[in-house]
Amino acid sequence: MSPLRPLDQSSKLKDVLYEIRGQALVEADRLENEGHTILKLNTGNPAVFGFEAPFQIVRDMIEAVPHAHGYSDSRGIMSARRAVVYRYEQDPTFPSFGPDDVYLGNGVSELITMVMQALLDEGDEVLIPAPDYPLWTAMTSLGGGTPVHYLADEQNGWQPDLEDIRAKVTPRTKAIVVINPNNPTGAVYSREVLEGIAEIARENSLLVLADEIYDRILFDDAVHIPMASVAPDLLVLTFNGLSKTYRVAGYRSGWLVITGPKDHARGFIEGITLLASTRLCPNVPAQHAVQAALSGVQSIDALIGPSGRLHEQRDAAWQSLEAIPGVTCVKPQGALYAFPRFDPDVYEIRDDAKFVYDFLVAEHVLLVQGTGFNWPTPDHVRIVTLPEARVLTEAVERLGNFLSSYRP
Ligand code: PLP
Repeated sequence: MSPLRPLDQSSKLKDVLYEIRGQALVEADRLENEGHTILKLNTGNPAVFGFEAPFQIVRDMIEAVPHAHGYSDSRGIMSARRAVVYRYEQDPTFPSFGPDDVYLGNGVSELITMVMQALLDEGDEVLIPAPDYPLWTAMTSLGGGTPVHYLADEQNGWQPDLEDIRAKVTPRTKAIVVINPNNPTGAVYSREVLEGIAEIARENSLLVLADEIYDRILFDDAVHIPMASVAPDLLVLTFNGLSKTYRVAGYRSGWLVITGPKDHARGFIEGITLLASTRLCPNVPAQHAVQAALSGVQSIDALIGPSGRLHEQRDAAWQSLEAIPGVTCVKPQGALYAFPRFDPDVYEIRDDAKFVYDFLVAEHVLLVQGTGFNWPTPDHVRIVTLPEARVLTEAVERLGNFLSSYRP
């Protein structure tokens, strides 16, 4: 037998990063295996923090299982796609579309991957917010494109900086990604900003990719305005799913909706259909959860109201972060995260990945560094606000103690 040839990952993965499950998680798992208790605040996975899946969703999926053992249509089963149409019909501002404009996926994640593969050629640029949900950057790179990050302005409640977006458009810019409500900042975008983004997209013939997976997780008086409603004259792809609002992240169930003019984009849409068919179909039992979720009681409402668990936890995390000297945090208006800033004049953090690692080893709490969200400077971390308020308060207190004596 000839000697085994070394096998490395493909060069396509050179710029594919996903620090939410990066090296620090490997160390966290190792510590757990040694018998330590680790508080993992790295992923927005409601189930592990005691959030139960709504009963109707579980029941419908279980009832479907005996009849859901065959492949389905590549776009997804008709009843689920109709349920998606029905969901958006309840909002009269949302442009109308039919079941053939809906693609179901194994989570939004799979749909992001498919769309970027269908869209991009070498050197095509995609405008992506900084900070971002890093899958967008990773899948742009994997698709052969170039991620170009536009800044969200922390001084302005993390709203996207329209001037920065405008300055970064080039003849190679093909699309703009809008994540609203935002992960990791918790910002909910104003109408003015969304209209500004739509205007830039209009002027430069950009495809708009709207990740709205947190559109029902809103606090205080925050109102979510769908990107598609602000830009009915543009091709907008809206992404959403069951992972967060319906607390069934493990079912892997999401959807993509195409609205606006399509004639100029037939080839691209055929590309999405082709890729949807190459993966045959999304997991069929989980597709049966979609109709139950979208036509039933919106049980998330009780969790986000003033005395709801998610609301209390957001408050606890934000208040305890703000109580640490030299730490500030824009109060999250939506989603499941806080993204505090460590004043560089007070704390000397040159490598935020090392900081997160050191904090994990010392205090057994796992966070994710801000640069993991493509934030340019090492002065932020992301905290998942899913644990109960007292657990969050204690974790943030440990962060404060650790910071006060941290020497890199
Ligand atoms: N988009 C955003 C902004 C997210 O935060 C997440 C998960 O955290 C996803 C997409 C992926 O969600 P899914 O579970 O549907 O793949």
